[in-house]
Amino acid sequence: MQDNDAKVIVALDYDNEKSALDFVNKVDPKLCKLKVGKELFTSAGPQFVEKLVNKDYQVFLDLKFHDIPNTVAKALKASANLGVWLVNVHCMGGYKMLQEAVSALSNINNRPLLIGVTVLTSMDAAQLTSIGINRDLQEQVLALARLANDSGLDGVVCSAQEAKLIKDNTRSDFLTVTPGIRPLDSAQGDQIRVMTPAKAILNGADYLVIGRPITQSLDPITSLIKINEEISAAKL
Ligand code: C5P
Repeated sequence: MQDNDAKVIVALDYDNEKSALDFVNKVDPKLCKLKVGKELFTSAGPQFVEKLVNKDYQVFLDLKFHDIPNTVAKALKASANLGVWLVNVHCMGGYKMLQEAVSALSNINNRPLLIGVTVLTSMDAAQLTSIGINRDLQEQVLALARLANDSGLDGVVCSAQEAKLIKDNTRSDFLTVTPGIRPLDSAQGDQIRVMTPAKAILNGADYLVIGRPITQSLDPITSLIKINEEISAAKL
């Protein structure tokens, strides 16, 4: 696995390996990292993830583990064996689960980075209340981000709008990986709280998870290069 500078993680939201590979074969590991989620992992399997790693891509295996500590620890070790770059767990699994997750990866050479999911963006205040959480949504996000930091995780998945606040409440090098990114010229789709790539970087986002604005583009490579240029200009 080569370490590179790419800030964009392309979400491979395809329901089969062939479509995903058609896209992957058009891009280059220097231009982006790749995210494999539950749908593609379930249909294409770990061998597909290894294929991407063997093509020198840094892979975010987005399986959001949430289970008893021992099971999560073992699932993370199995993920690390695939050679992936980034893995994740639900912070709602609690301190013990998070600590065991960290310790499961700690002795592994070239271990994957470990980030936490705080509150899913599909949840609103009413849904939080319905599962017994009466705290304000943003307070809950911050509490879980602090818990992730205290447990030794490398960062969290969050909205780019929360990136700075989360760093201010944890540490400046606590990673923020942010979906909901939309270049000005692309459709918002079902994402609600969107930010442009440049604004997300300026607000402290470390990596941007981007799906449809690239994968559904008529010219994915050009779209990706344009986004990379926007990011480089924002960092100047
Ligand atoms: O196509 P789009 O750019 O909206 O894709 C965003 C990706 O990030 C999808 O894979 C989606 O599942 C994921 N994601 C998200 N919001 C979260 C966590 C993950 O959009 N809070």
